[in-house]
Amino acid sequence: MSDPKFGLSFELFPPRSLEASFKMWSTLEGLVGLDPSFVSVTYGAGGTTRDLSKSAVGVIADHYGLNVAGHLTCVGATRTETLQVAQDYAAAGAKQIVALRGDAPNGATNFEAHPDGFSGSIELIEALAAQNQFNIRVAAYPHVHPDSANADHDIVMLHSKFKAGADSAITQFFFEAEDFLRFRDRAEKAGIKNKIVPGILPVENWAKTKVFSQRCGAQTPDWLDKAFSNTKSKAEHDLLSTAVCTELCDDLINEGVEDLHFYTLNDARLTSDVCRALGRSVTPPVAAKVA
Ligand code: FAD
Repeated sequence: MSDPKFGLSFELFPPRSLEASFKMWSTLEGLVGLDPSFVSVTYGAGGTTRDLSKSAVGVIADHYGLNVAGHLTCVGATRTETLQVAQDYAAAGAKQIVALRGDAPNGATNFEAHPDGFSGSIELIEALAAQNQFNIRVAAYPHVHPDSANADHDIVMLHSKFKAGADSAITQFFFEAEDFLRFRDRAEKAGIKNKIVPGILPVENWAKTKVFSQRCGAQTPDWLDKAFSNTKSKAEHDLLSTAVCTELCDDLINEGVEDLHFYTLNDARLTSDVCRALGRSVTPPVAAKVA
């Protein structure tokens, strides 16, 4: 089994209801003891969670003293409005931004820049880098992004993101270590020296994961599909999910990966089980400050 001294980070999404707020809190309570190096908060498609993302960033940074990364997209906003969100994140305590182009809202197919907005991720990264204020993370795609002409163009794009001022990348999820390792090799060959952190998805619901994977271009291997189809209960499904995800992370760590970024979907259970199976010890949660 691999060395438990790997860096950990967790992605959360901002809650849209009181019930969802409690869920996010309990997720944080379940994960904070794993000593994450940062927690990231997503930005709803089309900027739909702008205010919710900002308050979630503030609450996580303030109550838990965690290093927080706010996600930011270029969709549906002018340059000034987009950069204002970055400043609001900073005021809320975020020192990092995950800078993204984003997708067209409401299932529309093609991204279209706002007339006064950033044309895409590169311009956003350049503008953020010019502020010299944030650690900038960007997205990377081990499987071809749906908008990409081919796999090489994703590497070209990633290289441009680093030249524009990004510090590191987080990948879309994948289920086979080889997919990440091949992508990392191709990035290195292209001259990319910045860190590429694998994005890990512990599968909470395989049927939903398959649908989402189709939309975002992530591949779902047949052997995994068969294995999940053969599970007879939620307990079996979770057991398989934990085992497969632990093995994936172990393989990555054994190949020199130093950091893992978990897509938690605001559920601590599987992520925490995988991290503990990898040998990560859990310290009791730091008591959140009472507002
Ligand atoms: P880019 O990397 O800029 O573009 C994606 C691909 O499209 C490129 O690789 C390239 O091949 C092609 N492309 C882009 N521009 C051009 C061009 N001008 N000419 C030719 N080809 C081009 N979405 C959200 O809405 N909110 C979030 O919080 C969020 N968080 C994410 C976090 C991570 C780690 C990841 C991996 C994805 C996240 N996404 C999020 C999804 C993301 O917004 C979509 O994948 C979006 O389609 C691409 O954004 P990007 O910044 O990666 O785009």
